[in-house]
Formats: sequence, structure tokens, C-alpha cells
Amino acid sequence: CTKCGQESEASSKLEDFYELELNIKGLKTLHDSLEDYLSLEELCGENQYFCESCKSRVDATRSIKLRTLPDFLNFQLKRCVFHPKTTTKKKLTSLFSFPGVLDMGQKLCEPSQLELVYDLTAVLIHKGTTVNSGHYVAHIKNERTGIWWEFDDEQVTKLGAHPFGEGSSTTKPVSNVEQPPSEQIHSLSNGNHTNNGQLKSSDNKNIYCGETFSSSDAYMLMYTRRHTKHNKKQCDELNNSGQLNSVDNSDFLPSHLLEEVKEINASYSNACEEYDQKKVKELDIIKERREEVRSILSEAPVPSFEEQFFWISTDWLRQWADNVTPLPLDNAPIQCCHGKVPVSKVGLIKRLSANAWSRLLSKYGGGPTLTDSDICINCLMEGANTIVRSDDYRSRREALREIAEDAHAGKTLAGTLYYVSKSWLSQWLRRKHVDFPCEADV
Ligand SMILES: [Zn+2]
Ligand SMILES: [Zn+2]
Repeated sequence: CTKCGQESEASSKLEDFYELELNIKGLKTLHDSLEDYLSLEELCGENQYFCESCKSRVDATRSIKLRTLPDFLNFQLKRCVFHPKTTTKKKLTSLFSFPGVLDMGQKLCEPSQLELVYDLTAVLIHKGTTVNSGHYVAHIKNERTGIWWEFDDEQVTKLGAHPFGEGSSTTKPVSNVEQPPSEQIHSLSNGNHTNNGQLKSSDNKNIYCGETFSSSDAYMLMYTRRHTKHNKKQCDELNNSGQLNSVDNSDFLPSHLLEEVKEINASYSNACEEYDQKKVKELDIIKERREEVRSILSEAPVPSFEEQFFWISTDWLRQWADNVTPLPLDNAPIQCCHGKVPVSKVGLIKRLSANAWSRLLSKYGGGPTLTDSDICINCLMEGANTIVRSDDYRSRREALREIAEDAHAGKTLAGTLYYVSKSWLSQWLRRKHVDFPCEADV
């Protein structure tokens, strides 16, 4: 309250945060956005505040104060802006710059014992021009190596020492470090992102020391508190109480996560081991099968026609050679209705030596056994008859045609004579498909 100076009841309430949501509309740098976030808002006119002490609506000021900061500091950049006129959400694609190293020491409402120097460790990016569509990628720094990586679904790409790749990096002296000239940032931009090298400010308290980067797509920035000697000690104490035992991971993993990682790693190596064992077994089986196929096929040829041989379905033989677990012998598809081997199936069968057949039969079972004496005589005779009959039919058709042509031409025919329609006869003679009934037949 500007009148009585009393703070509201709500002012004493502390609120935890996961991230700080910063306005970026009209603001070009993280520094500006933080200033905006922590600035005093004046409540006057329509927005006047009702003071409990003054019992009236008065002018007042309102602001957010930071009391403590976490090890991992997340900034949500409000790129999604609601337009009341059109009632739609729009994405702000303005360039926004942020430092590689951020000193938050001056940002707390009360000075902290801790050194609050943060390193940029991740940038979350929304690719696309609208709010409702697009694609998310993350650029994350490996804290141990300092190397940046881009995570794009299952695609992981090395970016190098800078969050937006090596190519866009440059170093230029900047006269006024408090306000990085926006023109310079624009001129250096590479695609939607920029890495700007800046000379370290002589004033160490300045938040812009080292490099700044800018992006028109970044919507979330993650900073990790630097482990100075003083902070490191605190961390070690924390870690010891959390019973961390891996030196490598103790810097950045809490114990419960470390346990989980261990379990996942253990089950992964178990799965790998099981897979390896299974693979060895499968390979053994495949090798055994190959040897069997080779051995039986080497015995398969029938030395001479005098020797007894066995018929086998080519289809069965193929699956037997290709499969890890072959099916029982099946000669049914090559049998005729008389249960024997017809000549017509000669393209689907092979001859096997007695030795090869008995080896297959004893191993796989099934059947039936069909030998050289199982050629079907019935089917052979039927086939022969059909050939004779069709020859007979063809010659008879020729004779009929000659008679019809003679009758049509008015020649005198021998024997008993019958009347027939002249138009039917001429149509019958003209028909193209001699084996089909013609229109005249109706
Ligand atoms: Zn008051
Ligand atoms: Zn038959």
C-alpha cells in the first residue's frame, strides 16, 4: 500500500516454482525479461488495491521476489501469446538472446551465501510457425564433456561446444555489455539460432559474461548451478547423506535415480546375455540343419533307373531345406485320386534314392511312401483316351462342315435327306467359335 506502507496478507505466502515464466514480447534478452519479471507493477486507477489497514481502495505496488533458487533453474519463455481480438494463440518468433553463463546473485531479494552462477545446460526448441503444430527438439549439454547434443526423437546429433553448432559461433567485442546490440545478433544469425561470443565483462557481477546465444524458436532454457568450491562442499554433504557410491555419477544424480539406473542397466545386460545365449543356440541349430540338408541331398541322386527310387513332393523338399523346424513328410499333394503318382504331376516331384528317403522318413514321419512302381496306370489310360477322343471330335467336325457347305451350295447329297432351316445353316457356317453354340442354335 503506497498510503500506509503495509504489505498485504498474501505477501507473506511463499510459493514454490518449477520454472519461471518470462514474458518475451517486446523483450530481446533474458536479462530484460528477468528485469520485467521482477519489476514493480503499479496498481492504480481501475486496478487499485483494497488495503485492509486503510479499509479503502488505494494505489499500491506488486512484485515477485525470489528468496532461494534451485540447482536447476528453468525459464519458460512465453512464445505462445493469446490474441483477445481474434481469440487465437500465436507464436512469437522474435529473436531472444540468453547468456551461456548467468549470475543470479543480484536477483534475490536478500543476498545469498551461495554463489549463484549458472551455466546454460539445455535449450528446448519448438520448430514451426504456429502454436498447434510443429516439432520439439532439445539441445542438451553433457556436463562432463561440455559437448552439446541435439535430441530429435530417436536422432541424436553432436553439435560441438556451442548449443547451436560450431558453424554459427563467432567472437566479437561488445562495447556495452549490459545491452547486447540487437543488430549484431541479427547479423550473426544462422537459421533460427545464433551463438554470439562476447568479451567477458570487467564487471564480474554482470550477468553477461562470456557468450550469449539467441534463438527465435527456443521456449525453455535450463541453467545448472556451477559447482564452485563452496557449493561443491554442500553438494558432497548432500550426496553422502544420500549414500551415493558412484563417483562418476555423484555430481548430478540423486541416489534414488542412481538406483533405478543401476537396475535398468542390470536388466539390460541380463537381456543382452540371454539374447547372446539364445543366438548361440539358434546358430547351432541352423548349422546342424545345414549339415543335415547337405548330407541327405548328397545321397539323394538315384544312381540308375534299374535301382528302386522314391517320389517326393518338391514343395515339401523346399520347406525342409529352408526351415529351422521342418514339417512331417507330405506327399499327398502329388497323389492322384487313385492314391498313386500321375504323370501330370511330374513338374512337382523329385526322385530320391532309397537311402535318402528312409533317412527323411525315419526322422520326420508322415508319408505316404511312393516308389517307382507307383506311377498311376489309370490316370495314364484316362489321359490317353482324352487325347484320342479330341482327335476324333476334330475330324468329325471337319466332315460335318463339308456336308453343310455342300447342302448350302445346293449339291445333291447321298442317303436319307432331312429338311433344315436355310438361315440356320448359313449362320452355323459363318460362326467364328466352332466349339461354342451359335445364335442360330436357339
Ligand atoms: Zn494501506
Ligand atoms: Zn491315378
